[in-house]
This record gives sequence, structure tokens and C-alpha cells, in this order.
Amino acid sequence: MIILMPYESAEEFIHILKENLPMENRVIDPIPDLKQMYDKKRDQYNTRGYVRHCSRMARKEEHLVLGVTGVDLFSAGHNFVFGSAQVGGHGGVISTYRLGGKRFEERIIKEAVHEIGHIVGLTHCDDPLCVMHFSDTLDDTDNKAGWFCPNCESEYKELKSTRLDKTYV
Ligand SMILES: [Zn+2]
Ligand SMILES: [Zn+2]
Repeated sequence: MIILMPYESAEEFIHILKENLPMENRVIDPIPDLKQMYDKKRDQYNTRGYVRHCSRMARKEEHLVLGVTGVDLFSAGHNFVFGSAQVGGHGGVISTYRLGGKRFEERIIKEAVHEIGHIVGLTHCDDPLCVMHFSDTLDDTDNKAGWFCPNCESEYKELKSTRLDKTYV
């Protein structure tokens, strides 16, 4: 079970994930955006605070948490990111901000599956068609599949039974 946690700026999109995410999930009430993560110089939000917040919520909900926000996220060394998560941690976040366009729904599902893969314990994959391939641009996201390559899938299945199928404490 993955808990989907919409921040207020992504509230209207959360149903897309609720209905289409190929993982058992539950949606909790929207949370205000983290204004304290706003970086005035960059006019963006720091992803670290979001990941920390999602991890804290995961402890409270006793399940892994994926936050979904509509604000523009950055992390150190990147101009922007589509999402971020602690590999093998308890929480992660995706942003809908840069995923707009005709393929919006497909993109948000891919980015969610990617970050859930990280939370569960997977790292990046060299296969450009694998959902765990790093997306630097929307073309990368559009180019990859919505699911894991055979190698990542077997790793995911192994980790899933300990990370996603159980309530963790
Ligand atoms: Zn990644
Ligand atoms: Zn892979």
C-alpha cells in the first residue's frame, strides 16, 4: 500500500494517480504547500523539505508515502526536478509543474512509479525504456515505459513484499 498525499497545489490531479497507479494506494486529505521550502532567488521550492515531510507523514501513516505537489521543485545540482525520494526510505515527492501537455496523465503516472521505485529501494537504470531511467527532460519521460525493465521488475517484486505489502513500523 502506498499512501498518496496531495499538497494543496496538486489536489485536482490526485484522482489521476488514485485511479491509474498500478499499485495499491490510498489518498489522504490535502496538506498545505510547504511555504518554508520556497527559495525566493530561484522562485522554486527545495525538494529536500518535501521529501523529509513525506517521510515524517509515512511514519505517522505507517505506510510509505508519495507526496504530489504542483509547485516547481529543485534539488542541489539540478535546475529543476520532476520528483525526488530517498532510496530505500519512507517517502518521496513528485511535482506536476513541468509535466503539462497532452501526455500529462501518462507523465504523472510514470514519475510516480519512478519515485515509488526509489522509495521501495531501486536506483537508476541504464535502460532508457525502463521507468527507473533518470528523466532529465520531458522527452526522456515520454520515451520511457510506465513500468520496470525485467531486471528492475524482479528487484521491485522482491522488495515489494517487504516494503509495500507490509505495514512498516
Ligand atoms: Zn530517480
Ligand atoms: Zn530497469
